Amino acid sequence: METKRFRNFISGMNELNSHQFRLLEENVKAHVLKNKVEANLETRYDKLFCPHCKSSEKVRWGKRQGIQRYKCKACKKTYNSLSGTPLARLRKKELWLEYASCLVNGVSIRKAAALCSVHKSTSFRWRHRFLYNAKTILPKVLNGIVEAEETYFQKSEKGNKNLNRKARKRGGQAGRGKEKVCVLICRDRYKNTMDKIFETFRSDKLKQELTPRIDKDALFCSDGKPVYKRFVKESNYRHGCLNLSKGLDVIKEIVHIRNVTNYHSRLRQWLHRFHGVATKYLDNYLSWFRELDEFSTEIEPEVLLHRAKVPGKYKTQPLTIT
Ligand SMILES: [Zn+2]
Repeated sequence: METKRFRNFISGMNELNSHQFRLLEENVKAHVLKNKVEANLETRYDKLFCPHCKSSEKVRWGKRQGIQRYKCKACKKTYNSLSGTPLARLRKKELWLEYASCLVNGVSIRKAAALCSVHKSTSFRWRHRFLYNAKTILPKVLNGIVEAEETYFQKSEKGNKNLNRKARKRGGQAGRGKEKVCVLICRDRYKNTMDKIFETFRSDKLKQELTPRIDKDALFCSDGKPVYKRFVKESNYRHGCLNLSKGLDVIKEIVHIRNVTNYHSRLRQWLHRFHGVATKYLDNYLSWFRELDEFSTEIEPEVLLHRAKVPGKYKTQPLTIT
């Protein structure tokens, strides 16, 4: 805007009535937020490469929806810094920082939809995309002292239209065994955490899942259940074996599973707000909590946005809302 017009625009503010002023204020706020989001979404020119052919040779190719586009010199295709990431082709970017704060605060899909004034299906899609990388980027190998403990969640077919069994009354007790799903959490003293859902909690399954993700020299700490004893034997780990029923919950001040039990209780407390989580999405919630835990309470919505736009092998897939 040329200087003279801008001066007129500013002096015109004196003539606004309170309603008009509020509208202006809202518009300015929305603009500032939009610019902030867009600045967070751009990837530095020298760090950006073509998602189609990986070439870094490119020319700027105009802007679309506030995001810089590029044309690849090698394959001639166009892209932007979100192409090939979970955030590609999503709309209403100006709301994303607000939505990321909802995720930081562990707000439910419906509440986040209301707070950002979007449909709940949009809220659901965004949550899935924003947290997609948390699910696929797994923590590095756990090492040193690794604490392990399993916990059980009631199986839930929440959101499934065709229930395979008679609907349970709200708050009803689940039967034992098949109606529960086992979640194993392992956490080392550097706070690297892995979680895994087990249909059957057996030593061979543990070996299959844990040995690639726990350093071979680690000290594996757990209670003395036979399944753990078998697992450490079969996988050649040193075992810090506790006997909780006999009150042996710490050995030489070093071997204990207090960090992992603490993680369990924080996880349960956090999950409580969702009033039951569909089993098919339980891993999403586990990785969501893991991401929040990684930054403790200091995670900024911007950080969540940055992590979400890491290129991956994201494929759009049909989702159902729970
Ligand atoms: Zn290319």
